[in-house]
Amino acid sequence: MKILFLGTGASEGMPGLFCECDLCAKARALGGKNIRTRTSIHIDEKYKIDLPPDTFLHVLRYNLHLADIEYLFITHSHSDHLCPSMLNYRKRPFILQEIKPLHIYGNQRVLSHIRDVLKFHGMDITSHPNFILHHARPFQLIKSGRASVMPLPSDHSRLEVSLLYLFEVDGKTILHGYDSGWFLKETWKTLEDYTLDLVILDCTNGGVSPDEMRGHMGIEGVLKTKEHMISRGIANKDTIFVATHFAHGIGGLLHEQLESRLLPMNVQVAFDGLTIEL
Ligand SMILES: [Zn+2]
Ligand SMILES: [Zn+2]
Ligand SMILES: [Zn+2]
Repeated sequence: MKILFLGTGASEGMPGLFCECDLCAKARALGGKNIRTRTSIHIDEKYKIDLPPDTFLHVLRYNLHLADIEYLFITHSHSDHLCPSMLNYRKRPFILQEIKPLHIYGNQRVLSHIRDVLKFHGMDITSHPNFILHHARPFQLIKSGRASVMPLPSDHSRLEVSLLYLFEVDGKTILHGYDSGWFLKETWKTLEDYTLDLVILDCTNGGVSPDEMRGHMGIEGVLKTKEHMISRGIANKDTIFVATHFAHGIGGLLHEQLESRLLPMNVQVAFDGLTIEL
């Protein structure tokens, strides 16, 4: 199975969309892994997590065929994770072939954003054959194709139940762990039932460590999470840890600065285009 990191930046991307700071200048000059689009992950060609505003760029850059995606999991409604108007192009006259329905999973706010935006475009998504909306609720297991997916609540937003997704596919277990601060007690409790093969963690705050790891994490939070998982048997020496969703404005670091802090601790630093085979 192939896990592809399409984007690895936080909301403003890197360089920041309107930013002219020194870090952005360095990122522009160095290019490569220092250029970060907004986050999304594909598991094989069937599963997509989040629909960021850079999706069209991802299609061009990685030669993606989004028509093959059958299951779309949205973590929460923030604009770097959900750009609902793009779904408008998954129907005629914007596609000319037959297409399987897309199953979309999200919290109440995500689903209502999608309905509202598509209604604006004249589409009633609730009865459109190309879309099937599912309300993803914490701890209610979802069967989608060959995957079992457990939504877990994250510590991220006061306005909605932001979700992490725990995928079990082909005997492998993958935790999609952003956006989140230190995991909630009940999320930790559920994770104790699993041994994870791949753990993807929120490193938005990079080198900055606020007193409380609320809303997002940085390097310190990622390392503490790894340590805690190993101490509880949720992860072991074979578990692959990857940090992603890097902001540039708060605690922003260049790719190699992140690697110098995380690689010695056996945590990979994601970059746009990173592929992991499980
Ligand atoms: Zn985000
Ligand atoms: Zn900047
Ligand atoms: Zn967010």
